[in-house]
Amino acid sequence: MNERKVRVRFAPSPTGPLHIGGVRTALYNYLFAKQNGGDLIFRIEDTDSNRFVPGAEEYILESFRWLGIKFDEGVTFGGDCGPYRQSERRDIYKKYVKVLLDSGKAYMAFDTPEELDAKRAEIENFQYDASTRMSMRNSLALTAREVDELVASGHQYVVRFKVEPGEKVVVNDLIRGLVTIDSSILDDKVLYKSADELPTYHLANIVDDHLMNISHVIRGEEWLPSAPLHVLLYRAFGWEDTMPQFAHLSLLLKPEGNGKLSKRDGDRLGFPVFPLEWHDPKSGAISSGFRESGYEPEAVINFLALLGWNPGDDVEMMSMNDLIAKFDLSKCSKAGARFDYKKMIWFNHEYILQKDDADIAAAFMPVVQSHGVDADMSLLTKIVSLMKGRVNFVHELWDACSFYFIAPTEYDEKTAKKRWKEDSAQKMSELAALLEGLDDFSIENQDKAVHEWIESKGYGMGEIMNAFRLALVGEGKGPQMFDISGLIGKEETLARLRRAIAVLG
Ligand code: GLU
Repeated sequence: MNERKVRVRFAPSPTGPLHIGGVRTALYNYLFAKQNGGDLIFRIEDTDSNRFVPGAEEYILESFRWLGIKFDEGVTFGGDCGPYRQSERRDIYKKYVKVLLDSGKAYMAFDTPEELDAKRAEIENFQYDASTRMSMRNSLALTAREVDELVASGHQYVVRFKVEPGEKVVVNDLIRGLVTIDSSILDDKVLYKSADELPTYHLANIVDDHLMNISHVIRGEEWLPSAPLHVLLYRAFGWEDTMPQFAHLSLLLKPEGNGKLSKRDGDRLGFPVFPLEWHDPKSGAISSGFRESGYEPEAVINFLALLGWNPGDDVEMMSMNDLIAKFDLSKCSKAGARFDYKKMIWFNHEYILQKDDADIAAAFMPVVQSHGVDADMSLLTKIVSLMKGRVNFVHELWDACSFYFIAPTEYDEKTAKKRWKEDSAQKMSELAALLEGLDDFSIENQDKAVHEWIESKGYGMGEIMNAFRLALVGEGKGPQMFDISGLIGKEETLARLRRAIAVLG
């Protein structure tokens, strides 16, 4: 068993955008596969045609491309176990439905929706199981002839799994330990519907995990209730020896910690819950995505990895490779993980600090251009290096440093009142004259010349710098003064000084 090759899968149903919880599930599968030299398979579980949403599959693939989660096999990736889209595997499932029918492990049920409703009205907490199945219209209760006639007349049916009551079912979960239930609580689940000739999730999921040689099923907690049924299905097929190991991940909780994280929490508190922006094809509604909201993919990955798992030391910043090395499935938490979106913003800030200035400048360039500014790349890179420590998102750089590109046309009233004194115009004229006379306008040289001038005149450092800042920026913010004048250049510095003198007087 131990030498079995690790093969895991991420198996979304294409019913809409991928929720952030699904992204974490995929990430944990990826980390686990890579640290064990195994394969990650991308399977599409689209047997419920009613819930199919066009564009969802492509959206999911694009999300993983952006995040850097790579698949080895599956839809669009190829491999030996295809097709990987369940809607293209009908014949395979039919064969396995027949195996169960022939061995008496499943049966055909002809009950119409109306008949089922009538039963539910008649019997409180009705469940289709060993205690009721003989009173229903199915191949166990009818004669072989009656069954043949119903099928021949085109009566639609479903195939139900015949759950034997009183059996102990043990799910050995890598995160939760042994979960034991009595099979009597399970109902005879529908495995197949003749109407669309498609299996239900349960049958397709088991058959595919078996045929695709899946070694570990790592998925969300919401699937834990299905696990005992899945164990029984493996038993019914005689596949116990190759049954995958289960690991059910805990829920993602609201930032406040009470209850499951939902899209509404994101809308309420201003963070996305989807990796990419999603345009609902039916309603046209747009939901925000991490990518479009300015999150770095590395920050999203790092943050998600720590939701429900931690390396047991104080290290927080981890690259994908660090995560692959350190991740430990058995150390994932059983308790739900609070979605601390402020921490996610902190991660984004840290990744911006870590990134190359040139890369950030390249990402910032379109923002700058959208404001009608034609900036030079090397200038932008210098500005980014000075200013990136002040923002959490690249797009916030515009507000932080637009003064580099656009001269102030107004002066913040409060700052002007406080910082522009009666003699400021006079002193700024002197400063302008001094700067104009500098042949070497480097930051160092300006710094030196201006300091000497302030000292020789006995002026206050604060009063000069504050008025200078107001003239160049229009308000009281920004980096070191010469980091501003040095980058905008002599001509622009002088123009801004003269304008302030004229306007503020
Ligand atoms: N199709 C299921 C989903 O949408 C997969 C559950 C599983 O991983 O078994 O999440």
